Amino acid sequence: MPDDYDVIIIGTGAGGGTLAHTIAPSGKRILLLERGNFLPRETENWDPGPVFVDGRYISHDTWYDVGGKPFQPQVHYFVGGATKMYGAALYRLRPVDFGEVRYADGVSPAWPLTYDDFEPFYTRAEWLYQVHGKHGEDPTEGSWSRQYPWPAVTNEPRIQRLHDDLAAAGYHPFNAPCGIMLDEADRPRSNCIRCTWCDGYPCLVHAKSDAEVIAVRPLLGLPSVTLLTEAEVTSLRTDPAGRAVTQVNVVRNGQPESYSGHIVVLAAGAANTAKILLSSASGQHPAGLANGSDQVGRNYMFHISKAAVALSDEPNDTVYQKTLAVNDFYLAGNGRDWPLGNIQMLGKSNPEAMRGEEPHLTKLAPRWSLEEVARHAVDFWLTTEDLPRPDNRVTLRGDGSVQLAYQPTNTTAADGLYREFEDLLNHVGLASHHVLEKNFYMKMDVPIAGVAHQAGTCRFGTDPATSVVDIDCKAHELDNLYVTDTSIFPSIGAVNPALTAMANAIRVGEHLLERLS
Ligand SMILES: Cc1cc2nc3c(=O)[nH]c(=O)nc-3n(C[C@H](O)[C@H](O)[C@H](O)COP(=O)(O)OP(=O)(O)OC[C@H]3O[C@@H](n4cnc5c(N)ncnc54)[C@H](O)[C@@H]3O)c2cc1C
Repeated sequence: MPDDYDVIIIGTGAGGGTLAHTIAPSGKRILLLERGNFLPRETENWDPGPVFVDGRYISHDTWYDVGGKPFQPQVHYFVGGATKMYGAALYRLRPVDFGEVRYADGVSPAWPLTYDDFEPFYTRAEWLYQVHGKHGEDPTEGSWSRQYPWPAVTNEPRIQRLHDDLAAAGYHPFNAPCGIMLDEADRPRSNCIRCTWCDGYPCLVHAKSDAEVIAVRPLLGLPSVTLLTEAEVTSLRTDPAGRAVTQVNVVRNGQPESYSGHIVVLAAGAANTAKILLSSASGQHPAGLANGSDQVGRNYMFHISKAAVALSDEPNDTVYQKTLAVNDFYLAGNGRDWPLGNIQMLGKSNPEAMRGEEPHLTKLAPRWSLEEVARHAVDFWLTTEDLPRPDNRVTLRGDGSVQLAYQPTNTTAADGLYREFEDLLNHVGLASHHVLEKNFYMKMDVPIAGVAHQAGTCRFGTDPATSVVDIDCKAHELDNLYVTDTSIFPSIGAVNPALTAMANAIRVGEHLLERLS
């Protein structure tokens, strides 16, 4: 096994997979180290019982809350990372998210770059991940240099009616950006069969634009690219001066191995990237690698998210429901002193996944069976930005496992969004029915276990005292260590994070290509 790689990338998800895809055409020798394996294509992929009830694809990791209580985090260790399970709602952050945003409960800090700096990379990410949508509809979005590569996915009849009702009531619904390989003009030749299993399920037919299918698989035949699966990186070692990573320590199939490369990139997800750095403490870096500022692990965010089900009088036979969103509450103004967040549709409810909520559900809608409740469900996903608190952080316990401290933030805005949501339902004929908070969407008994949108922990910035990596996402304290996952986010905005991680990985990839040439 050669160990003189040009670039070693740790993690193959949105950040790592996209980075590899960006630099691979150069012929540089790339080693991808992935803790998981390929996610098996099996009938269970599209079965809510194994996926939601049994948690078939959730890792067996145990993390601990600040009180020492163990929990099973919602992390997915596969080639493609969390994107194997994601809903492929591929939003750009809004221009306002790159600046400082004031809330009742605190401040969301500015990014060191602007929306305009990111725009070309957002466009490239949208084209790479085959996003369907329509730029120009949502008043909160920034300028765009190129329309989406695919037209927006059409609304099915119930969702089109919701769209029309919202528009008639003065809201501004728009076509949500979806990363699926669907050609509605030529359905028989389309990979995607437009099923209901996009959000929270792996795609059995590989028609969801995830990082494995889009970014990693196309590289597998290249002689310059090596992918090692079941290769968990445990620590990084440096030269005696502590300026360059010289050794990447791995446990692969239970055996210790080590690799070296000119450049090392961490993209293991926000919590695990921090874990690897903290596990790499040495004489030169006693508090953990790249952690002279004590910033590694801090400012952890994961969105304040709420799944809610409204029950519609008429059946909702929608199959693919994630085609509509509303950003009318995204910005301050119109009588609001601060922003509240985003409302979008969620994957359609099904009775199997609702089973755990059955007594509650059938009490709310006594005239309907569980099957009917699911059929009448209209599913929404509400997102409010959570604020980076230094004390919301990843640390390591004595045995090296992750401890996650998290105090909720920005709850005033989240409560405000929920009130606006209830009011919105009143305008579209869904109000006379109960709204149910949909806990079963993410099976978890500890709220912080819902780490799907984890970000922060290694923020990028210009000041080494308050950030871990610089504008190019290179560690301030090292010459050859980079980070390209969501850990670099200084704030998280209120839209889904993956497209920003992908765009940033392309941006950093361009920098690395220049550096390597
Ligand atoms: C159910 C679900 C639904 C979601 N829906 C959406 C959505 O609709 N839109 C959206 O934008 N986002 C969504 N997300 C979030 C999105 O998937 C993540 O924000 C994104 O994948 C984060 O990218 P990343 O590169 O930071 O981490 P990941 O994509 O998770 O990649 C990290 C990779 O590192 C590997 N790894 C971890 N530790 C190690 C180690 N020690 N050694 C080697 N490899 C390691 C992991 O196995 C993984 O492959 C969803 C997530 C989930 C779970």
